[in-house]
Amino acid sequence: MIHGESAPWPQAAAALDGGIAILPFGAFEQHGHHLPLSTDTIVAEHVARELAARLDAVLLPAIGYGETWNNAGYPATLSLSPATVTAIALDLARALTFSRARAFIIVNGDWGNRAPLAEAARRAELPTLVLDYPGMDDAAAEVRDSAQAAPGLSLDHAGEIETSILLQIAPKLVDPDRYTTGYPDFPADFGTRPMQLHPFSESGVFGDPSLASATKGTAILAATIDESERVARAFVDGIA
Ligand SMILES: [Zn+2]
Repeated sequence: MIHGESAPWPQAAAALDGGIAILPFGAFEQHGHHLPLSTDTIVAEHVARELAARLDAVLLPAIGYGETWNNAGYPATLSLSPATVTAIALDLARALTFSRARAFIIVNGDWGNRAPLAEAARRAELPTLVLDYPGMDDAAAEVRDSAQAAPGLSLDHAGEIETSILLQIAPKLVDPDRYTTGYPDFPADFGTRPMQLHPFSESGVFGDPSLASATKGTAILAATIDESERVARAFVDGIA
């Protein structure tokens, strides 16, 4: 694999010619009082790096901002508009086409990026795959000891699941002294219409980080990376 961030252009160009480019797409978004704003970027970058190693691909520098309107009511959360997210992905797909890449894989770390990245994948001329952490929900359900913040939804924001993942990847960025538990009362129509989160939660935590562990994070990440690889290989094999 090639680390796009540190490679001189001839090496990156040689690897891109007929090769695969992998882009981590993150966010700059509140994650409670105990996780960093860049949590989603850090996780996407980790998964993308592992995937790039397995596929012998070019790992592109991460996008550190995303569409995070749901959390934009928390100061210091800096959200892009959906059109910007789509445009970034489309512009890179176009540039990668010029570099004669064979395929473009986006590892998406943020819920709000899903629709705008799907739009980009649909419009891009270069075959483009968006991975929204396949396998993660099932793996999280297997290790989860806490209740979900919103029954029926896989919403865990800075709770047991996300905190476990960060404890595995970047334990120094987790501050257990600042754990808070968040089980807010959601309006009855939550999940059925666009809704910002800050009116329900002062801390920004949805779930219970106190039950997080690096061991759980390891299991969740391993399953996510395995499933991402399986989907990515099927996608690449399917390109004519
Ligand atoms: Zn997150």
